Amino acid sequence: MRIVIENAAIATVDAAGTEHAAGHVVVDGGLIEAVGAGPAPAGEADRHVDRRVDATGCLVTPGLVNTHHHLYQWATRGLAQQSTLFEWLVELYPVWAGIDDEITHAAALAGLVRLAKTGCTTVADHHYVFPRGAGDLLAPIVAAAGAVGVRLHAVRGSMDRGESRGGLPPDSVVEDGDEALAATAEAIDRYHDPARESFVRVAVGPCSPFTVTTELMSQAAELARARGVRLHTHLAETVDEEEQCLAELGCTPMEYAERTGWLGEDVWLAHGIHFADGAVARLGATGTGVAHCPTSNARLGAGTARVADLLAAGAPVGLGVDGAASNEDGGLGVELRQSAYLARLRGGPASLSARDALRLATMGGARCLGRQDELGSLEPGKLADLAVWRIDGVEHAGIADPVAALVFGALPSVALLLAGGRPVVEEGACRTVSEVDTAAGLRAASAALLKKAPR
Ligand code: ZN
Repeated sequence: MRIVIENAAIATVDAAGTEHAAGHVVVDGGLIEAVGAGPAPAGEADRHVDRRVDATGCLVTPGLVNTHHHLYQWATRGLAQQSTLFEWLVELYPVWAGIDDEITHAAALAGLVRLAKTGCTTVADHHYVFPRGAGDLLAPIVAAAGAVGVRLHAVRGSMDRGESRGGLPPDSVVEDGDEALAATAEAIDRYHDPARESFVRVAVGPCSPFTVTTELMSQAAELARARGVRLHTHLAETVDEEEQCLAELGCTPMEYAERTGWLGEDVWLAHGIHFADGAVARLGATGTGVAHCPTSNARLGAGTARVADLLAAGAPVGLGVDGAASNEDGGLGVELRQSAYLARLRGGPASLSARDALRLATMGGARCLGRQDELGSLEPGKLADLAVWRIDGVEHAGIADPVAALVFGALPSVALLLAGGRPVVEEGACRTVSEVDTAAGLRAASAALLKKAPR
């Protein structure tokens, strides 16, 4: 498919921050062929064009990159509404113990549709609940991403420290460490595609310091490096976590990460809120990424990440939605404004600009996932993942700066979303799967899961 998009404002998010008030993007196959000011170059008309899009009144940005999610949690939204992270987890673990292939597929499909409708073309899904006998729960997530048509980074999570070993989760939802490692290696064999244009990659993701043994943390890092895949875990999300880490392990979460091999350019950490100055500097020096999840952090009252400081230190920072059980909206575009505002509550109105927020959601996320050469900006030769946002309605009329309209205004409808050059969303509706069927499937899955849950 060769698609020519014209007459749109364009924010390329390239290194120079190039923008065009009225420009064009040409997509050929899965790649971006041309980006520039004005109409597509003369001579274009002579070449074969499958589709010409008049994007007057729209802003084109790179497709957004979601660096942290738990798709299965779409089946458990609206619960534990006023709980801290630990209280919330303790309430939800027994419910999550009931997930199976069907529930996970229905939840993933719904979550991915919502993400696509909010401008997201790449999703890192951290799946760490594998109840005994529930099978390979990555398969339904990979299938759902294939159906919706977005890129997936399937993080094979794990927990091996249940209550009987001093961990937070009940023993019924944790795995044996060796079995978890073997299943992770198998997931890499089965699903990981290292190709540049890949739609499915696998990362290694033991869940958190309070659900995983030190042995599994260290061995998981070794496995990831032996196999050349990336590493992802939750770190420094709450004060409770830090206190528990200090009491049980005698170190801060950051020192624990260092000790277990969890710093480096191949690592990105979810949340990264409670870091002292030295830890922020260490993340920057090692190139360790942070998946910033502003809405989830606010929902759980976890704290506000030091995003401006992390950026100043040189750490890659991307945006994450986190699981929909702690962010019922589940959309990524919304996090643009959330990240800007949360940073400003912390550091004042100059601490994060609208363009900084857009960069977090695009290039920042691509860096976290090690795909900065493939994704995250609109430049010739990069993969054809882009969002065309409609900003000519009453919600945005009169905002002369299109990026401010996107970040500060109401979340615009997505007029067109391309992933690898293929349309996923058009005029605000998902074109690849039925939204009506997806919603019905999610309702049934949530009801089935809650029915199974112990009371
Ligand atoms: Zn999370």
